[in-house]
Amino acid sequence: MEADIIKRDLIIVGAGPAGLTAGLYVARAKLDVLLLEKLAPGGQVLLTDMVENYPGFPEGISGFELIDRIKQQAEKFGLEILANEVTSLSLSPEKKLVTTSNRQYMAKAIILACGAFARKLGIEGEELLTGKGVSYCATCDGPFYRNLDVAVIGGGDTAVQEAIFLAKFANRVYLIHRRDKLRATKILQDRAMAEKKIEFIWDTVPVRIIGEESVEAVELRNVRTDNLFQLPVQGVFVFIGYTPNSNIVKNILCLDKNGFIETDNDMQTSEPGVFAAGDIRSKLLRQISTAVGEGATAAFAAERYLDSL
Ligand code: NAP
Repeated sequence: MEADIIKRDLIIVGAGPAGLTAGLYVARAKLDVLLLEKLAPGGQVLLTDMVENYPGFPEGISGFELIDRIKQQAEKFGLEILANEVTSLSLSPEKKLVTTSNRQYMAKAIILACGAFARKLGIEGEELLTGKGVSYCATCDGPFYRNLDVAVIGGGDTAVQEAIFLAKFANRVYLIHRRDKLRATKILQDRAMAEKKIEFIWDTVPVRIIGEESVEAVELRNVRTDNLFQLPVQGVFVFIGYTPNSNIVKNILCLDKNGFIETDNDMQTSEPGVFAAGDIRSKLLRQISTAVGEGATAAFAAERYLDSL
């Protein structure tokens, strides 16, 4: 029923750095805005132990504290944040309907900042042993592996950074990468190479995670020789990139081949009045600093769009 629909000029979906920054800007500009987040604010940043490349924090800052500060700042300007998962969207230039598990909202403009989630390997044993040795978050689970052996899968910034973090606790960290060169930035590579507890296993992919009650080993395949071998470990940490949370707009907005939302430089998507910011966007660099900049741009563009109506 139309009367039950909650109306706002702008709805932001997602409370990571992009969504919260957009919220901070529009709330400060006194727009009629609501931010919807399915869980608690934070997003991927909460999985990061220490953020050391976000400007303004020369000593580094924990992901949790950074998000908490951004949230406090946004709420100081009156941003309303509701825990409510968006299940579908219906978008037209005249009317944008946001449906959650228990409500409907209507907005004139929308900013999508729903981020991305950790990609799975899709191999035998992965699902069965998730939470029993298979993990996608070193910050959450790393301390459980004190003096144990763990495998880290991936060769990007996340895998290398998290391998360095895990080396604080584990007896040995095997970094397993499908090529013979890391994708991670040089500074992280150098640090990982200097860490004695980290051992690199190159040109290798996992094919099966072994264990009944918990992880006992990972079966690996050398991609050059096809040689199969088992590596005894008690933990397998998977960091092979992210999949965007773009399912709700799959058949509505233009997405790139990996499912990330295409926008122009002003964060405008293929649908007028719908903007996207942060990790859900198709772009070169996924960082907190880029998410924050995009959140601010999306907020400004949304404000301009609302003025034009
Ligand atoms: P990523 O850069 O996409 O790297 C994914 C890694 O996983 C790559 O090394 C890739 O191998 C490997 N991989 C992908 N699919 C695989 C599969 N099925 N089996 C085995 N290996 C697989 O992802 P990310 O490291 O999570 O980083 C995501 C974004 O966040 C990046 O933009 C990154 O710069 C940023 N980030 C930055 C920091 C920082 O600045 N400190 C920290 C974390 C993340 P190939 O290399 O062969 O493709």
